[in-house]
Amino acid sequence: MKLSNRLQQIHDQIPEGSRLADIGSDHALLPVAAVRSGKAASAVAGEVNPGPYEAARKQVSDAGLQEQITVRRGDGLEVVSAGEVDVITIAGMGGALIASILDRGLSKLEEVKMLILQPNVGEDILRRWLLDHQWVVVAERLLEEDGKIYEIITAMPQASSPIANEEVYLARPLEGGVVLTKDLLLRMGPYLVDRPTDVFFAKWESEIVKLKGVVQSISKSDQDSSREKAAEVERLIANLKEVLECLPKVKP
Ligand code: SAM
Repeated sequence: MKLSNRLQQIHDQIPEGSRLADIGSDHALLPVAAVRSGKAASAVAGEVNPGPYEAARKQVSDAGLQEQITVRRGDGLEVVSAGEVDVITIAGMGGALIASILDRGLSKLEEVKMLILQPNVGEDILRRWLLDHQWVVVAERLLEEDGKIYEIITAMPQASSPIANEEVYLARPLEGGVVLTKDLLLRMGPYLVDRPTDVFFAKWESEIVKLKGVVQSISKSDQDSSREKAAEVERLIANLKEVLECLPKVKP
């Protein structure tokens, strides 16, 4: 079984011997690979939907890993009990949904040592949730696969993180007088901006196109609130463009 590059990079972030929960596991590809490689000593594959739940059960049974991997049907973190796992992966959903899964499962996170998250969109929402709940982003990866760009965000609880949130999101000046504010770091990724690859530039150029579309559509309304929103998005576009111009071009 060969993992996609995206799942492989998530897999590579898992510490050896973890007790893993993969939430929204679909075909349970990640827990099967993690148990086979020794990254996970045991795993829970959580799925809310019946089709993917059955697919996960079949995958685990075909792999002969029923002893090490439990497939459970349920919403988000309700499939694990407090203290049962120490690493949680949640991949392939929107950032808002991942944040809501974490939010609704807060009590299950108390003994968790690492979250490895791969939002498809809304990365800023997720980074804000982590910041507000004393989780520190310790690593970020950016990759392109099949024409899509993905971010992988790894976070640790503040108490055991090697770095503090104050440092991660400390506003920093770029050459040319532009300042990377906390807001921009939350949007663009505090580590990704420090090593901006071609994929990073491609992602933000495409985000700017989408934001211009947002301005166009809200500008059609003559309500004051829409005008204010359009002006806010235009300011964001200008800030993003300034940052992109000032960042050094780094090869991957
Ligand atoms: N994690 C796999 C990956 O990255 O390749 C599968 C991603 S798939 C696009 C998203 C999966 O999350 C679906 O199988 C869906 O059923 C599941 N899902 C969505 N919301 C969920 C929730 N609240 N709790 C558990 N699973 C959920």
